[in-house]
Amino acid sequence: MNFHILTLFPEMVEQGLNTSILKRAREASLIGVHAVNIRDYTLNKHGKTDDYPYGGGAGMLMQAQPVYDAYQAVIKKLGTSQGQKTRVVYLTPQGKTFTQKMAQDFSREENLIFLCGHYEGIDERVLEEIVTDEVSIGDYVLTGGELAAMVMIDAIARLAPGVLNNEESARTESFHKDLLEYPQYSRPETWRGREVPKILLSGDHKKIEAWRLEQSILRTEKKRPDLYGKYLETQALIEELSENKLIHMDMIELLRRGEAEFLVKDGEGVLLSPKGTEIAMLYCRNEAAGRRILETFARKDPGTVRNFVAHQTFMFPVLREETGWEEEIVCRQAVYTRGVTLPVGKGLEIRKLTEEYAEFVGNHYDLAGDLCYVRQRIRAGVMYGAFVDGLPAGFIGEHEEGSIGMLEVLPAYRRKGIGAALEAFYVNKMLAEGRIPFGQIIKGNDASMKLQEKLGFRISRDTLCWFSKK
Ligand code: SAM
Repeated sequence: MNFHILTLFPEMVEQGLNTSILKRAREASLIGVHAVNIRDYTLNKHGKTDDYPYGGGAGMLMQAQPVYDAYQAVIKKLGTSQGQKTRVVYLTPQGKTFTQKMAQDFSREENLIFLCGHYEGIDERVLEEIVTDEVSIGDYVLTGGELAAMVMIDAIARLAPGVLNNEESARTESFHKDLLEYPQYSRPETWRGREVPKILLSGDHKKIEAWRLEQSILRTEKKRPDLYGKYLETQALIEELSENKLIHMDMIELLRRGEAEFLVKDGEGVLLSPKGTEIAMLYCRNEAAGRRILETFARKDPGTVRNFVAHQTFMFPVLREETGWEEEIVCRQAVYTRGVTLPVGKGLEIRKLTEEYAEFVGNHYDLAGDLCYVRQRIRAGVMYGAFVDGLPAGFIGEHEEGSIGMLEVLPAYRRKGIGAALEAFYVNKMLAEGRIPFGQIIKGNDASMKLQEKLGFRISRDTLCWFSKK
């Protein structure tokens, strides 16, 4: 991912973002940091970029023209169509306070433009013209936006794939799942009479994991009661959904893994979205609650939700007949609750697919020609292929919301156990990641139902329904 920083002090940003992990990430081309000197774009013959504010008052103001021309230069470099959809972040004490959640959201962009103010700030007209996001790093006033941009870039860049050597660390550290990180210790075992907790020396990973979770919870309760409240709320929701866990496993897994974003919270239900997707999932205790949630959502819907999943049959007619959503498919949920790995069989090569296989997958799987989605799944590293004598015979993948799917075996290779092997492989992969494998079977697909049952999946009695925008 690339960061373009519009600034009057490029050397500050260049130097500040060129040590340790970020330096390595830049050298490995995992991220690009491009500082653009606004002064290079001024039309003033003395190189001036600021002037007095109209109406008087203290200090100087950065003028619109050099900022706009510097911005245009970046857009031109990116190519107009890519450039124009690139988000422009203005660092300002008046913006929304930066959080880990925002860092995750920004980390999904390929390019980001940061605009650093100085002096008293920037002429309002250019801000209105180019800025998409206003962000503050806290309720205090800095002399310029450079340090704030560097704080944001540091937090976002470390979430880009490959930047941290150990992907696990981004998943377990503070704020993940609304919990602060547990205490950590390194050598020596005893320091100034203080011992490392014995459990950490036990080698029993299950017990260590349980201890760490307990410590995280205790810490959060003590240091951040606000976060702890959110954590308790999520746990209570997981418990409620678990009363009918087969049909709600998609939501439960998202909540358990800290991958759910709440679109609407209601005392009697929720609308949540798998982070980084355009999907909304509805759970409600009764129809009245469901209607309330839909109304709240309709009032604040920014238009980003593309698919809607309803988990209770009593909401299907409401969505079908009274809203702008159109029924797509009705599914049962198949959940692998046994927790033991499955035999994959020998002699079949299964490996991660690269982008060169996107068309192959697209040609053999009915996604209504949505090759972009296939590419996105391949890029996410969740599409696998089975190969026989070096030739692709079938594939499987994981959908955006975490279900196993897109399973297909080419006609010439059917009835040889390749489908079962691919699915067993993916189940084992999910188990190794500490997840509960699940998939969705379209009502009436008996072949898929049989395969899931044979592998030991439990099938939900109830159905869920996917809707799309009319
Ligand atoms: N007059 C402005 C106001 O009251 O909102 C403050 C201007 S400040 C002195 C100069 C620049 O520093 C701002 O344009 C902004 O880019 C940056 N800045 C200052 N405090 C910031 C903060 N807490 N977060 C992000 N950027 C900040």
